[in-house]
Amino acid sequence: MSDQQQQPKDNQLPEYTLSGDGVNEPIEIIIKDVITEKTTITKKNEAGPHDETMLPNSKTLSKTIHCRRCNCTVIAPKNSELVEKDITLPLSKNSDTAEELRYFWYLKDMMQFENVAFTLNVNQTHKYLTCADCESEIIGMHSIQTKENYIAHDRVVYK
Ligand SMILES: [Zn+2]
Repeated sequence: MSDQQQQPKDNQLPEYTLSGDGVNEPIEIIIKDVITEKTTITKKNEAGPHDETMLPNSKTLSKTIHCRRCNCTVIAPKNSELVEKDITLPLSKNSDTAEELRYFWYLKDMMQFENVAFTLNVNQTHKYLTCADCESEIIGMHSIQTKENYIAHDRVVYK
């Protein structure tokens, strides 16, 4: 593996801009995390998922996970495992509030999702995940390097 990080492929910003005197000057590629120093981050200390959401004696998802806003299906049963991990997620794309969450459904591969969408690239290490239908909340994150995905228990519903 190379140490060099790839720029996200769908970044369409130009690398150069023409300044007033006709000289090409490099401009910084703007890839900003929506979490900034102005973001209010709260530690949620949410309760973990109920035992019924997992198959007996395992951490494997037994229910279907849906968007809590529009009911779109996000993960089908058996396609994810519960993990405990500290991940800070903004409430939505343009929110100045974020929560530090604890319980996540882990998916090794994007193919394990039923439906999910990326928000715009936010930096070189990760992207945020949102509902493919309503895009109203940030529900998880995707690691660009490892391709791993985490969906927040606190931001979904089970059926
Ligand atoms: Zn939705």
